[in-house]
Amino acid sequence: MSLANASSTDTQFDLFTKVARFDHEQVLICQDNHSGLKAIIAIHNTVLGPGLGGTRMWKYATEAEAINDALRLSRGMTYKAAISGLNLGGAKAVIIGDPAKDKSEHLMRKFGRYVENLGGKYVTAEDVGTTTKDMEYVAMETEHVVGLPEIMGGGGDPSPVTAYGVYMGIKASAKKAFGNDSLTGKKIAVQGAGKVGLHLIELLHKDGAIITATDIFESGLKTAAEKYKATIVKPEAIFEQDVDIFAPCALGAILNTENIAKLKCQIVAGAANNQLEDDNIHGDMVRAKGIYYAPDFLINAGGLINVYSEYNGYVREIAFAQTENIYNTVLNIYSKSEEDNINTQLAAIKLAEKRINDTMLLQSKI
Ligand code: NAD
Repeated sequence: MSLANASSTDTQFDLFTKVARFDHEQVLICQDNHSGLKAIIAIHNTVLGPGLGGTRMWKYATEAEAINDALRLSRGMTYKAAISGLNLGGAKAVIIGDPAKDKSEHLMRKFGRYVENLGGKYVTAEDVGTTTKDMEYVAMETEHVVGLPEIMGGGGDPSPVTAYGVYMGIKASAKKAFGNDSLTGKKIAVQGAGKVGLHLIELLHKDGAIITATDIFESGLKTAAEKYKATIVKPEAIFEQDVDIFAPCALGAILNTENIAKLKCQIVAGAANNQLEDDNIHGDMVRAKGIYYAPDFLINAGGLINVYSEYNGYVREIAFAQTENIYNTVLNIYSKSEEDNINTQLAAIKLAEKRINDTMLLQSKI
């Protein structure tokens, strides 16, 4: 594999150093000439249970970019499961290719064979660039797949549950910042009117919040404006809105130095994964501005809770009830951040790591 010209910032891509730094248990390279499959399955940590994480299919510019994504996202899954109290580990798969052109039944089934060969250590699901239909193909080769359509005993689209968890995170943050968790009359800016963003806007509108929304495509915005009375702004204007709460529900790494400087809100709480460009630098920067930041991997865990529910026979009401717990965990994280004088992202990671370390200790005793 040619990793020499990995990326402009990563000229010497050293796979073993990276894997050691993140402390992954196993990284599997999957390659098949016939189907054209090129995939990486990264299993970060299975102390709490099988590593569960979706399969992302993306046109990565370099192989190093794909590996980095798999390593970073799988570690995020470990923290998400741990802090949500689920008996799951963290893993993620990425398939290198254009989901619109390079996908086939054969490719997905071949990928399913790789998942099967891991014997349950890795459980897959849909993610960006893959669909429930793809997971049906994967399921022809392995039982270690979740997030199947409801008709196949799965939980179906996780977005409403994810949105509900984010809504709980927003309410808990409001309680902390404003003394009560009512969102009536609160001004909220939502970045991304996609699957999660629109469900969230619906919940916020029901509570009487005043919504500003943006997206790079029209369709979600039309619904946001017509059904939920949202004011629409240009994508680049979303950061500087004079609002109480900012809910990023589109992309990662948007909490960077430039955008944080523009924020006028008191709370940042949204669904997007990896919102902080750098957990340390930007987590501290947000905190120094007096903004309450609800860690993304904690408040967007509803989707994971939803697929986890499939293990015991899926009941949607149970998934929603478990997701409600995000409210208490967010309040706990704000307290921990104050007690330990650290930013909320680090406080949440610390709590997740504690659960994993405690479990390891349990496992080492008779
Ligand atoms: P989605 O693709 O349906 O929605 C994302 C929306 O963001 C799209 O409408 C897209 O056009 C918009 N967007 C992209 N770039 C933008 C920009 N620069 N400015 C404004 N809008 C932009 O995805 P989703 O399922 O709603 O997920 C949203 C975020 O939440 C993602 O980061 C995803 O990883 C994360 N997440 C989703 C789930 C879930 O259950 N779907 C679970 C956990 C985390």
